[in-house]
Amino acid sequence: MRMYYSTNRKSPHVSFREALLAGLAPDKGLYMPVQIPQLNRETLEVMEELPYSEIAYLVLRQFLEGEIPDDELLELVKDAYTYPVPLEHVTERTYVMRLDQGPTASFKDFAARMMGRLMNYYLTRDRGKLCILTATSGDTGSAIANAFYGLDHIEVIILYPKDEVTPSQRKQMTTLGRNITVLSVDGKFDDCQALVKQAFSDDELTSLSLSSANSINIGRLLPQSVYYFYSWAKLRNDPGEQPLFVIPSGNFGNMMGSVIAQRMGLPVSQLIIATNENDEFPRFHHSGAYAKVSPSRNCISSAMNVGHPSNLARLVDLFGGRMDEQGNVSISPDLEAMRSLIKAVSVSDAQTKQAIRDAWDRYGLLLEPHGAVGWAALEQCPETALTSAGESRLRILLETAHPAKFPEQIKEVLSLEVEVPPSLAGLDTLEEHVISIKNSYGAFKDLLLKRRGA
Ligand SMILES: *Cc1c(COP(=O)(O)O)cnc(C)c1O
Repeated sequence: MRMYYSTNRKSPHVSFREALLAGLAPDKGLYMPVQIPQLNRETLEVMEELPYSEIAYLVLRQFLEGEIPDDELLELVKDAYTYPVPLEHVTERTYVMRLDQGPTASFKDFAARMMGRLMNYYLTRDRGKLCILTATSGDTGSAIANAFYGLDHIEVIILYPKDEVTPSQRKQMTTLGRNITVLSVDGKFDDCQALVKQAFSDDELTSLSLSSANSINIGRLLPQSVYYFYSWAKLRNDPGEQPLFVIPSGNFGNMMGSVIAQRMGLPVSQLIIATNENDEFPRFHHSGAYAKVSPSRNCISSAMNVGHPSNLARLVDLFGGRMDEQGNVSISPDLEAMRSLIKAVSVSDAQTKQAIRDAWDRYGLLLEPHGAVGWAALEQCPETALTSAGESRLRILLETAHPAKFPEQIKEVLSLEVEVPPSLAGLDTLEEHVISIKNSYGAFKDLLLKRRGA
């Protein structure tokens, strides 16, 4: 059985199941596989013929050896990946991979849906139950709600500040029903978070099996290496072709997916990590000295406004260094090795808007602010267009959200109304289910306990 260790190295090794259900290691480190499995040539070559879900199966089964029977894993991935993954041609051998066709039109669906199904698998098998509590200021809540919707051993309770989410964000959570309960709190986001925190540390609620769907969960990380294999398999001219990937990055889960894919044997020529004005990683990459951006800067690529990416500790670890959860580096990673694989570029808001305009004017390519940060970074690296043999290089930009999620920004730059995809349309006609509560722990706790009795 494959084992997982904590990046802080002060916790025992655990199985995948334990790492998945725990989220964070007891020493506050992040779980990583003791050994990264290798995919052989035949497996890589056969991917050319396979649909996304079966590529996901081939990649993930390597990590789940001896944990989940093959036929059951195949069912889980087929249930998780029911939507297309378009690869849009831009120019020469440059493509955009649109990771925006899932239920919340964001690439987070790829990771959250698989994590939900993996958790539900173990809970069903072991006759367990889990109640996931999440405080949200908008997007996280809808991604979690949609990822866990309909899973019969997991209940989800989401708290949002009543005046601080947009109607569209609210409807993405409240129109689901079934195992998703949504609470509108008469307070601010920080109040919601405080309520959740207090519940986690309340001994009288232990029997409810409260849990969080933390973004640093290993079950969320591993599925993010799959689409690198997928895009390469579908776009490569020959099995040796080494693509370059451009990854708009915030908390670095996506970038860790790419590094894990590369370590598993995916041919990769380079990874361009594009951040917005929160440039702590580009500075670290350049100088070797790490300093968070605190408070984080507010950029239009709002999901990437992260001043200290939690997953950075995993990257440092893979390159032989050590970084704790606070960002203290006690062992320096091999920066030379890191630089030979990874390029880091910080992009300003002005450059992001310019990139939205350029991509549209020159190529008819419609990007939202996060993907545009990636496009701007790629434009700053024109030398990557050709291989050392002078041939056009396969370059793949990840577009992490649907343009319709950012209509104001696109309208401002392009004076264009974006068509809403089916996943986001039609919400207005559905009934909303919301429970309003006061900003009081007593009221919240009562509700949690009553639900158990119900
Ligand atoms: C979360 C998010 C990102 C950043 O991804 P990380 O894995 O945190 O680096 C980029 N774009 C969008 C639209 C996101 O929602």
